[in-house]
Amino acid sequence: MKQTRSKNSGGTSTPMMKQYLAIKGEHPDAILFFRMGDFYEMFLDDAVVAAQVLKIALTTRDKGKDNAVPMCGIPYHAAQGYLTKLVQAGHKVAICEQVEDPALAKGLVRREVTRIVTPGTVVEETLLDADSPSYLAAVNPVSGGYGLALVEASTGEFMVTGFEGDGAASRLATTLAQYEPREVLMPEGAGGPDALLHAAGHLTAIEKYRFNQDAARETLKRSFGVGTLSGFGTHLTGPALGAAGAALWYLGEVHGEPPGHLKPPRTIQDDEILVLDPNTLGNLEILRSATDGRREGSLLAVMDMTVTHQGSRLLREMLIRPLLQVGQIDERLDLVEELVGEVILRGRIRKKLRQVSDIERIVARFASGTAGPRDAVSLAQSLEELPRVKGLLADLDSDLGEQVCRMIHPLDELSAYLENALVSSPPATLREGGVFREGHNVELDELRSLTTDGRKFLSDMEAREKEATRIPSLKIGFNRVFGYYLEVTNAHKEMVPEAWIRKQTLVSAERYITEELKGLEEKILSAQERMVALERELFEDLRREIGRSTGPLQVSARGLAMADVFTSLAELAHCSSYARPTFLEDDPEGRISITQGRHPVLEKGGVSGTFVPNDLYIDSGLNRMMIITGPNMAGKSTFMRQVALIAIMAQAGSFVPAREVLISPVDRVFTRVGASDQLARGLSTFMVEMVETAEILNNATGRSLVILDEIGRGTSTFDGISIAWAVAEELLEGSPRGCRTLFATHYHELTELALTREGVKNYNVSIREWGEKLVFLHRVQEGASDKSYGISVGKLAGLPGTVVTRAREILGNLESHALDREGMPVLVSGEEGVYGEGASESQMGLFNDGTRNILDMLGDADIDALSPLEALNLLARMKKYKILETDD
Ligand code: ADP
Repeated sequence: MKQTRSKNSGGTSTPMMKQYLAIKGEHPDAILFFRMGDFYEMFLDDAVVAAQVLKIALTTRDKGKDNAVPMCGIPYHAAQGYLTKLVQAGHKVAICEQVEDPALAKGLVRREVTRIVTPGTVVEETLLDADSPSYLAAVNPVSGGYGLALVEASTGEFMVTGFEGDGAASRLATTLAQYEPREVLMPEGAGGPDALLHAAGHLTAIEKYRFNQDAARETLKRSFGVGTLSGFGTHLTGPALGAAGAALWYLGEVHGEPPGHLKPPRTIQDDEILVLDPNTLGNLEILRSATDGRREGSLLAVMDMTVTHQGSRLLREMLIRPLLQVGQIDERLDLVEELVGEVILRGRIRKKLRQVSDIERIVARFASGTAGPRDAVSLAQSLEELPRVKGLLADLDSDLGEQVCRMIHPLDELSAYLENALVSSPPATLREGGVFREGHNVELDELRSLTTDGRKFLSDMEAREKEATRIPSLKIGFNRVFGYYLEVTNAHKEMVPEAWIRKQTLVSAERYITEELKGLEEKILSAQERMVALERELFEDLRREIGRSTGPLQVSARGLAMADVFTSLAELAHCSSYARPTFLEDDPEGRISITQGRHPVLEKGGVSGTFVPNDLYIDSGLNRMMIITGPNMAGKSTFMRQVALIAIMAQAGSFVPAREVLISPVDRVFTRVGASDQLARGLSTFMVEMVETAEILNNATGRSLVILDEIGRGTSTFDGISIAWAVAEELLEGSPRGCRTLFATHYHELTELALTREGVKNYNVSIREWGEKLVFLHRVQEGASDKSYGISVGKLAGLPGTVVTRAREILGNLESHALDREGMPVLVSGEEGVYGEGASESQMGLFNDGTRNILDMLGDADIDALSPLEALNLLARMKKYKILETDD
């Protein structure tokens, strides 16, 4: 099609630009697609932003004039691709159409915004990632807390919760990190917590009164057609209610009508799940790899063997919110176990599920009026499979299996209706018709035959008239001005019946029309138009028909998603030789025991086939802290992460990469790992480390699992050791009594903790020295490692020989405790080391000056106040120092 571009001219003061500015004024936070002829044009700041995101040319209206306006444009028929890019980049777009025919308009064409597309409200397939959720969040800050609503327009999911008291902001951030909303609504002028501003989504400020609770109550009642909200449960009150109202209002605004497919709001229960905070989700690479932020390399990617998008999204949800109650976890594991055993049934279910489309999202598209003919056909094909899937699931005996089977509604009537209504491969849009089957609607069939058989009707008529009038030269023709006519050459014009009406005289012939021909003409010409309009009406009927089954369709979709997830977990367990974890309920010892555990991602990736499994035993008592030493690259991080991942997988209801696992559930996993670069947030590496450590110390409970991968690295050695030591003591004996901790450190000094504190066990990841070479065995074994091998690892990494030799020399001095007069380690060989006066007591203590330490201990002890047990302990500590010194 030839594209025409309107050529209005003039700066911002022309009538057209005035119209533009007025409409833009109503949508200041959206990029306005302003329809002009065959283009959507963007002006001023919008044009600058859009040109950059879309990589299209930025031009100006009225080049050279003072009031030149920046502009850029896109052809309307290619708008979808551009729209997708803008929305995925987090922008809101308002689409402004010409709402009257330019040919008929008197003066300026009327224009209106017909649709607003925002990142958190889209339902179109092309604007969404099929395997990820797309939430809109509404955050309602009040004094002392927050209300939160999360709505997923693309599936109808609707959740609310409130956060109060200490840590409200961090719990809000955790929930936002789990659901990753694409857009966050906030009241205008409300400053969010830092964490909120860093939530993934686009921030949209709306008027504060939209969060009003009374208004919210009314909005919700209207949306769900209920007289009272009490049926939804007690969670729908206070700031959460205000947030829910704001989210619903916004969806209604954007879609032009309140969404009809939302499920009743449910609460987000954090006390029933294993809480994974944003750091932990990131550090453990649950959803995406830390290296490049992509899905590949994440736990989710390794575990996702689902065959449907709804299944893939459910698996993600299960992984970010693993369970806590043993009963619920075992229910899931029972189903996985049953499906592991049912190899053939599993294969059949998966084969059927592959035929099923994303019903959840199709239903949402119908509810919001954006579904097309192909959605209807996909739904019809999926519905056909439902009874077959249900039939297969009926063979399952586990409780959850039976439950999943019950969730799938066969919906025979709807299925038959769609089957009879639709052709099997319709065009993508309703623009040209051709969506409905013959026999679905009598009028449509007639119209169709009129358009397709129009020529035949005319030639039949021509033959009939020829015979009736006996005019051999008679023929039917068509021109734009007179439409269809009967043409008779001058030689035969005397034979023309009287009833014919003369329309046009040519040199050699006359042209006539008849009533019948006029009638036929009208039918043929309007048939095409009417046919398309009728198909639209019929599609609306179909939409209503589907709308009536929204509830059962959504439940069935959830059932299919569950069937998919659990068969996929069984497939995973089977293919990857995973074992069922055994859960210990109310275990006072808080045991976690892993035999031959593996790292689920690494064993599949680079080190597949050579991955070395490791055991672990930890509990809330005498084995509550594992200090793990060993050189860099030995496998400390891998080991600790695999323990955390195994716990998370198990509590999500999956089998795990190990030979055997016994586990009492973990309420939170905390991780402090490496130096994640948050410099962009204005925090130095060390600051981040300390903030994360503080968060752990303040929040870990007796049931938590804490992973500390190096602490105190970002500061000087002595500071670092001191902090690491104190943190370890706090975790052992401070407020989070008995929380289970895996602590990897290159500070050897920390292994001494085991000598002085109960509950600490030393482990190391073994290596062998082979001449000058190091061999990494990746085996975790009891006992402290003898040295840190840092220099050998440096050599392995290619440090020049001179540097390696020099480093060994300096290390030699340090290890012989050579300090200068200022108490600093002597780095130059040959200079005799002495303990300088400036050296602090604690620093010296750390260098195993056993005798000195023993004297200090004696000096410090208040003999009168010591209990017999404390006295014995003191004696034991002195003895251990002595042993250490002798060993040295
Ligand atoms: P560390 O934390 O001790 O510096 P990492 O855990 O980062 O070491 O491990 C370094 C590398 O060693 C990993 O990237 C992996 O390739 C390999 N590795 C670690 N553990 C194992 C294992 N159990 N089996 C095989 N290879 C391993």
